[in-house]
Amino acid sequence: MLETTKPPAEILKALETAPNIYLVLSPGLYILTASDLYLKATKSTRKAIVGKHIFEAFPANPDLPDADGVQNINASLQEVLRTKKPHYMRIQRYDVPDISNPGKFIQRYWDPSHTPVLDDSGNISYIIQLAANVTDKVLTEQALEKSRLQEQESLAHVKELNEALVSANNQLRQTQGNLHILNAGLEEIVHSRTKELAISEAKFKSLIMQNPIAMQVYRGDDMTFEINNDAMLQFLGKTAEINGKTLFEGVPEIMGQPIVDSLYHVYHTGEQLDITAMPVMIHRNGHDEHGYYNVSYRALYYDSKITGVLGIAIDVTAQVIARQALEESEEKLKVAIATGRMGTWSIELDTKQITMSDFVKDLLGIPADEPATVEKIMQAIDLEYHSDINNALKDAADNHQACDIEYAIRNLQTNEQKWVRATGRVFPGLYGKSAQFTGMFIDITEQKKDEQRKNDFIGMVSHELKTPLTSLKAYLQVLEIKAQKNDDTFVMNALGKSNNQVNKMTTMINGFLNVSRLESGKIHISIQRFDMAGLFKEVEDESIATIANHKVVFSPVDELFVNADRDKIGQVINNLISNAVKYSPQGSTIHVACQVADKCARVCVKDEGMGISAKDIDKLFDRYYRVNNNTNISGFGIGLYLSAEIINRHKGKIWAKSEIGKGSTFCFSIPFN
Ligand code: ADP
Repeated sequence: MLETTKPPAEILKALETAPNIYLVLSPGLYILTASDLYLKATKSTRKAIVGKHIFEAFPANPDLPDADGVQNINASLQEVLRTKKPHYMRIQRYDVPDISNPGKFIQRYWDPSHTPVLDDSGNISYIIQLAANVTDKVLTEQALEKSRLQEQESLAHVKELNEALVSANNQLRQTQGNLHILNAGLEEIVHSRTKELAISEAKFKSLIMQNPIAMQVYRGDDMTFEINNDAMLQFLGKTAEINGKTLFEGVPEIMGQPIVDSLYHVYHTGEQLDITAMPVMIHRNGHDEHGYYNVSYRALYYDSKITGVLGIAIDVTAQVIARQALEESEEKLKVAIATGRMGTWSIELDTKQITMSDFVKDLLGIPADEPATVEKIMQAIDLEYHSDINNALKDAADNHQACDIEYAIRNLQTNEQKWVRATGRVFPGLYGKSAQFTGMFIDITEQKKDEQRKNDFIGMVSHELKTPLTSLKAYLQVLEIKAQKNDDTFVMNALGKSNNQVNKMTTMINGFLNVSRLESGKIHISIQRFDMAGLFKEVEDESIATIANHKVVFSPVDELFVNADRDKIGQVINNLISNAVKYSPQGSTIHVACQVADKCARVCVKDEGMGISAKDIDKLFDRYYRVNNNTNISGFGIGLYLSAEIINRHKGKIWAKSEIGKGSTFCFSIPFN
């Protein structure tokens, strides 16, 4: 190595401990000495580097062919050697070998300055390389730069991101815009749904409000009234002010009543509830009113949750009270039926199924646990009434005719004879049921026996009276002959009147006798063929002889043969004429006519009398029936009854037409054969 001048040792020593990093190089660029800090910074020792060429001691890092600052430092040193002027360098990377790791370098950055120290002759004695290890600074700077770059990068990234964000934002905005539109649409939809809802709710409300049936809507756990329509408010005896109040606030009297449980039951379970005749007490018109209501409750849902209850009420108080009254009267009727020896029966006209109360079964002798059949019933009824009963049944089925018939039965168990009265009428089949022929069955055995006894008595008395009356009449006739001989006009007159009275009495007694005979079935119809014209002539003669105060006009009658009981038909015509006389004013005219109609001989007696009201007409032919307003005219109400019985036994018809104050016409007709 070429050694030139060397700095004095004491300076070198001093420099070694200097707080700077420096190297002292010979003009041949050999290392003369290094400071401690230099050694520390280069991780080397004085021994390892002093005396060595700078680039031998600190060779270039082969891994950094271009980046390493060796070239630049050499150029700077050459510049100093040439110019002998200091040269300052920018920060250089100049890696130093890693002593502990041969072949490897430690990254180092330096900012070297090369200052020549000249000797007296102006030649370079040595070069001091002052350097600062700026590695940390550079690395920091680099890190900073990196971070700056990173920052920039990240900024760029952020920018990018921002841009992305912006575009995303734009997209978002667009999306938002779309969303907005969508939302608007949705809102529109929702709105329109709401509208629909609102419309349907409005419809729902108006439906309730306008409904004539009492309706209400409750909402929520405390049953707040949402709607009560007018009809409901009327039921509740409240005003619309209760809408918005809870049930107990609005209708406090309802508390504790069973209807509340029903309402809550529907609210909690969603079950549909229809209650018939629910008793409800409402404070109405200033007092507690008890009523009966048919109530329907339906749960109201929103989002499949129960939110309320719709209530409908129909006031059935009147019906319930009427039904209760009916049940009461039915009960009373049952008692009356039981004590009145009556029973009930009914026949379904379609199926002929018979139901009858135990009393009827007992009367007929049908065991209570056995069904009643038509055959069994007919078996119990006396044969002679079978056709009457069949006719009545047929009439009921075909013409819905009511019936009221009496007949004799024989108990199927005891063979005891009984008399019964069966009344009934057809009830149309309602609600898909078949029509029913329903009625009462009355045990009239005792009544019949009483009547029988009475008839027997009347018959007996009439019979007993007839004998003295016949002899009285005979005596009167003898006396009349005597008076005629004596030409005693007064006695003749008196006897004539007495004779009339006896005749009247005879007619009366005959009437009673006939009734009694009729009742006991002893009346006998003897049919014969005769000419009605002949009978008419006889009746006319008799009338002329006996009726003085009325004008009786007989229409001419052609020959008209009939098969009938001549006496009894004559008796009927006489009865009708004597009634016409009795019930019409003196001097009025009575028309009697006989003509042919519908293969029958029809006889009519027309008067100009007081007339008969419509309500009495049908009853005139009943036994002992007399119209109330004729109490001043004597009679027993048996004449028309007997006439009707006689005509019926001829299979004929008898009827009356009349109007109060305008006279009456009584007619009968009997078939020719
Ligand atoms: P009686 O004449 O004895 O009362 P009837 O059986 O003959 O009984 O008549 C029944 C009732 O019918 C009479 O009481 C009378 O009220 C009414 N009646 C009968 N014929 C006539 C008539 N021609 N005009 C008005 N009423 C009559």
